[in-house]
Amino acid sequence: MSQVHAIAVLTSGGDAPGMNAAIRAAVRMALHCGLEVYGIHNGWQGAVDGGEAITKMTWGSVGGILQRGGTILGTARCQAFHHREGRRQAAINLYRLGIDGLVVIGGEGSLTGARIFAEEWPQLLQEAAAQGQITLESDARPQLAVVGLPGSIDNDTYGSDMSIGADTALHRIVTAADQLVSTASAHQRTFIMEVMGRHCGYLALAGGLAAGSHWVIVPEEELKPRWHREMVNSLKRSRKAGRQHAIIVVAEGARHPDGLPLDASTVRDILMQRLDVEARVTVLGHVQRGGSPSAYDRVLASRLGAAAVKDLINVGASQAPRMLGIVENKIQSTPLAEMVEKSRSVGEHIDEGNYETALQLRGYSFQEQLKLFRLLRQSAPDVKSSQGNLLVLTAGHDVPGMNPCVRVLTRVALNRGYQVLAAQYGFSGLLSNQVKPLAWMEVSGWAARGGSELGTGRYELHEQDLPALADVLRQQQISAMVVVGGLDAYRNLALMQARQQQYPEFHIPVVIIPASITNMLPNTDFSLGTDTALNNIVSAIDRVKDTASANKRAFVIEVAGYHSGYLAIMAALASGAEGMYIPEEGISLQQLADDVVALRQGFAAGKRLALWIQSENASPVYDQSMVRRILEQEGGELFDVRSVVLGHIQRGGAPSPFDRILAGRFAVAAIETLSNMAIESSLDYQCVGLRGKHIVGKNLSAALEEMDWPYERPRDEWFMELAELARIL
Ligand code: ADP
Repeated sequence: MSQVHAIAVLTSGGDAPGMNAAIRAAVRMALHCGLEVYGIHNGWQGAVDGGEAITKMTWGSVGGILQRGGTILGTARCQAFHHREGRRQAAINLYRLGIDGLVVIGGEGSLTGARIFAEEWPQLLQEAAAQGQITLESDARPQLAVVGLPGSIDNDTYGSDMSIGADTALHRIVTAADQLVSTASAHQRTFIMEVMGRHCGYLALAGGLAAGSHWVIVPEEELKPRWHREMVNSLKRSRKAGRQHAIIVVAEGARHPDGLPLDASTVRDILMQRLDVEARVTVLGHVQRGGSPSAYDRVLASRLGAAAVKDLINVGASQAPRMLGIVENKIQSTPLAEMVEKSRSVGEHIDEGNYETALQLRGYSFQEQLKLFRLLRQSAPDVKSSQGNLLVLTAGHDVPGMNPCVRVLTRVALNRGYQVLAAQYGFSGLLSNQVKPLAWMEVSGWAARGGSELGTGRYELHEQDLPALADVLRQQQISAMVVVGGLDAYRNLALMQARQQQYPEFHIPVVIIPASITNMLPNTDFSLGTDTALNNIVSAIDRVKDTASANKRAFVIEVAGYHSGYLAIMAALASGAEGMYIPEEGISLQQLADDVVALRQGFAAGKRLALWIQSENASPVYDQSMVRRILEQEGGELFDVRSVVLGHIQRGGAPSPFDRILAGRFAVAAIETLSNMAIESSLDYQCVGLRGKHIVGKNLSAALEEMDWPYERPRDEWFMELAELARIL
C-alpha cells in the first residue's frame, strides 16, 4: 500500500545541472508505481501561484531532457514563501489537487522551506478550512510527506558526499583551467581564476588539484597574516625551477586573515606589486552552472530521483521530512532538520573565524586534499631521509588518469626520499631495461594529459622472462615498486609474488593501482579511467541523438566492457537508452524478439529515436552487427537501424576531474602503503582501491579471489541494481 496518492516535484533556489535527470527519474518512477505526478514550475513561487504553474506530468513530458542543463521546471527565489500566508496559499493549491507527497530538489534554503512547510501543513490546512477556502475531506492524509534532494553546485550539503551539479561544475572549472594553462604557458602568464563557493572551498580545492594549479585559496583555511609573501615566494621558486606559468584558484568566499572578503583582483594586485608579473583575472561565474550535466550527475540524480519516490511510497509522512543523499556510494536518508543545521554550521564557523572547526566539519578527505595540494605545489622535494629506488610503471591498455597518477606518485615519492625510476612501455619496456629517472618538474603539466606519457602496453610475463626481470630490478637497485594498470598487471604481479623465494629481487614492497576504463578490477568500486570513458560515451551518444531527430531510427551502440556491463549500464542510465545488452545477462532469442515487439510498438506510436547500448562481449553469437541486422529486418518500414562502435574514442581525451582526483588519492595511498609494508617487512603485494569514499588496501591474492575467473570480472558487481533502474526509466 502506497503511503501517498499523488506527488509533486519542484526545483528551487540556484539551478544545478542534473536537476532534469532527477525530475525525469522522479516522474517516471512515480508513473511506474501508479501514482499521479505533478510538476510545480518556478520553485516555491509556482506552489504559491497554483493554476497553470502546477501541471500534470506524463512519461513523455520528461523525454529528451537528460542531457539538458538547467531545469525544465524552472526555478526561482520566492519571497512569499518566507511568509505564512504564502505557505498557506501553497498548501491550498496542493491540497486541491490531492497532492500529499513532495519531492523538492534544491539547496539548503529550498530544503529549509520544505521542512517548515511540512511541519506547518496540518495547521495551514485547518486555517484554510476555517476561512472556507477548502473543505477538509475525511479521507485526506493529515500530513504532507516530503523528501528533499541536494541540488547545489557548491557541494556544501551535509548528508551527501556529492550534491547534484557539483561534478558538472567541476568539469567546467577544470576545462577552463586547462584552457588557461595553454594560453598562460604561451605568454608565461599568471592567471587568477575565481570559482563559486561562498562558504565552501570544495570547487576551488578539487578544481585546483585536478587542474594541477599552483595555489588555491578556500574559505575554510585561515590565511596567515603574511600569506601573500609565502605565495609570492613560492611562485618565484617555481619559476626558477622552470615553470612557465601559474594558475591560482580563489573561491568566491575566500577571506583575508581579518575575515574580510578577499577577491581575485586583490590577489592580482599583490602579484603585480610584489612579483612584477602580469596577472590576469578570470571570474568563471555562471558558466559553472551551465551546460549539459556530466555522466556522474546524470546517474546520481537519476538514482536519487527514483529513490525519493520509493521513499514517499514506502515511508510517506510516517517519518519527519528528510533528504536523500549519496554516502559511501549508497543512498542515505538524513532528517532535513539535521541536514540544514549541520550544513549551515560550517558557514557560521567561518564567519566567526573558527577555521579549525570549519575544516574539521568538512571532513577527512577535504583536509587530506588540502595537504596533498600543498605538497604538489612545491617546486622541489622537501627530503628528510633517503628511501632507495622506487620503480613506477603503467601497464596494460592506456587509460585516462595514468598521467595524473604518475605525477602525484612521483612528487609524493620524491618528497618521501625515494629516487623515482620509471619504466617505459610497461612490463615489456621494463624487461629490456628501458628505465629512466623522473624528476619533480618533469611531471609538470601531466595532470591534464590523457594516455600515458611513460608509454604502456599489454604484456603477459612468462616464467622464462623472470630471470631477465630480476636482473633489471637488481641492476637498477629497485627497493619498491608501484604499477598502475589493468588485469594483466595484476596477473604479472601475482606471478612475481609467487616466485619471491626463487628471485629475492621480487621480495620488495609492491603496490598496484587499478586502471581500466571498463571497471572490472577487484577491490574497488571505481577504477581509474572509468569516469572519463563514461563521459566520452555519454557525450558521443548525445551527438548521435542530435542526428536522429530527423528520422525514425534505432541505434545500436557498442561500448567497451570486457566481460563487465558497467559502462553499458551506466551509459544507458545516463543517456536514457531504451535498453542494454550486457555480458552478465547475455542475449537470448526471446529477448531479441521481445525487444523487436517493443520497438515496433514504440515507433508505430510515434517514437522517433531508440537507443540500445550493447556491451562488447554481451553475447558470443548475437554480436552488434547481427543485432543490428535482426532489428533492421524486423523494423521493416517502421524504422531504420544504425550501428555505432565507439572504440578508442572511449579512452581518449583529457582525464575527467573525478579521475584526476582519484588518481591522486590512489597515488598517495600507494606510497603510504609502501612505507607500511617496509616497516612490517610484508611479503604480500598490495592493491589499493576505492570502497565507498575510503581508499582501501588488500593483499593481491585476496583481491584476486574476488574475481569470477571464467568471466574475469568481480563476482560482486555493485552496479547491477542500476540495470533495473535504467530499464524502468
Ligand atoms: P538554495 O535552495 O539554493 O539554498 P535559497 O536560499 O535562495 O536557495 O532558497 C530558495 C527559496 O527557498 C527561497 O527563495 C524561499 O522561497 C525558500 N526558502 C529559503 N529559506 C526559507 C525559509 N527559512 N522559510 C521558507 N522558505 C525558505
